Amino acid sequence: MELPFAEPYKIKMIETIRMSTREERQAWIEQAGFNLFNLKSDQVFIDLLTDSGTGAMSDRQWAEIMTGDESYAGSASYYKLKSAIKEIFGFDHFLPTHQGRAAENVLFSVLVKEGDVVPGNSHFDTTKGHIEFRKAHAIDCTIDEAFDTEIDHPFKGNVDLGKLEKVFKTYPKEKISFVIVTLTCNSSGGQPVSLENLKQVSAMAKKYGALLLYDSARFAENAYFIKKREAGQQNRSIREIVADMYALADGMTMSSKKDGIVNIGGFIALKDEELLQKASVFNIMFEGFITYGGMAGRDMAALAQGLNEVCEYDYLNARIGQVAYLGQLLTSYGIPVQKPYGGHAIFIDANRVLSHLPKEHFRAQTLAVELYIEGGVRGVEIGAIMADRDPDTRENRYPALELVRLAIPRRVYTNNHMEYVAAAMANVFNRRASITSGMEIEREAPILRHFTVQMKRSVPVALMAQ
Ligand SMILES: *Cc1c(COP(=O)(O)O)cnc(C)c1O
Repeated sequence: MELPFAEPYKIKMIETIRMSTREERQAWIEQAGFNLFNLKSDQVFIDLLTDSGTGAMSDRQWAEIMTGDESYAGSASYYKLKSAIKEIFGFDHFLPTHQGRAAENVLFSVLVKEGDVVPGNSHFDTTKGHIEFRKAHAIDCTIDEAFDTEIDHPFKGNVDLGKLEKVFKTYPKEKISFVIVTLTCNSSGGQPVSLENLKQVSAMAKKYGALLLYDSARFAENAYFIKKREAGQQNRSIREIVADMYALADGMTMSSKKDGIVNIGGFIALKDEELLQKASVFNIMFEGFITYGGMAGRDMAALAQGLNEVCEYDYLNARIGQVAYLGQLLTSYGIPVQKPYGGHAIFIDANRVLSHLPKEHFRAQTLAVELYIEGGVRGVEIGAIMADRDPDTRENRYPALELVRLAIPRRVYTNNHMEYVAAAMANVFNRRASITSGMEIEREAPILRHFTVQMKRSVPVALMAQ
């Protein structure tokens, strides 16, 4: 008999999670204004809100916590992290920051000026935020295939070289702050970028004299997909692939809350010392002295260990295999999900589940609420609530896709939990025709409304027709 898959770790410490009743959940979600961000964590049984900062550290990482060096300047933990970054990514210079957006804030303070453009594959929200805050523009050059959920393309995070070249031909060199490639591309659903594409992007950036940076939150998951899907990469180690990827870039920003497998932290790493000197000034102003930058020594030490662990093939195979397992279960129940499955999350197509509700009643939000009521599972809406209102017309924006994202924390849940989540979703899916009422907004903030919006149930569709 062929031996089945099993996780390449065992559990040394557990945290109890409490199951609730449907009646309790119905009351809680109403009190929360039908906003899943307003729930208390103990009102949630399985929490798939995000994979950011929610991972489980290993025994070796906890050991690093105990031996971390808390010196203000020149901490041994800083040097441990510096050598891990040099070994894995090849960069000589680095600055710690308290998380990924802080790395963006520091580095973009040097590189982004008013009126600039920053081409790349679909920029992450905070990246775009830090570009637009400086009155510059992010230009999305992702391949068209990424925006069609039906197309099964292996590298939907790829940059379209035609679109990128157009940017270089339209804007003078001094207007292009840099090119940024997000690995994996979070905004398009955790989709990877191929090594071949990185080579081509790097060559084009060089040709036009632009810096190439990677937004690196899920760099190891990206390398795993390269190993699995790209011709000629099957027999190479994750570390060899990561080294090749980063040899093509001038620098990186990192949210350590993802592939650092720590609960907080981030960093900037760079090839060029002069750029580092300039960024150091902002790091000291915004984050802290250059050898801690908003991180405790123990957290830098745990991050150094986490970066090593995330590059292990067996870990990645279990991690990405678990995400795919959830995707396969949902697919087997007939539930429409985005394909191919991403590295860190599964996206359910709410437009196809709740097509009988008008889009003005927020289909993805409604589906996420129903999943919570059904089983205490918390996902997140990526749809019209999150897309917010048009800043000029103040009209609601309705994106092409209404998605419920189920993001899987690293090393936290077992495949039994995935089976539970899929069964809860299947129950909702099977009673979808009886979901006749969606959501209506009662109160919302002028910007980033999804975090605090208050909603109520909308008038049922049957009554609307009368
Ligand atoms: C999470 C994330 C960020 C921002 O990092 P924080 O640590 O949350 O500030 C930036 N880019 C990508 C791709 C991310 O996933």
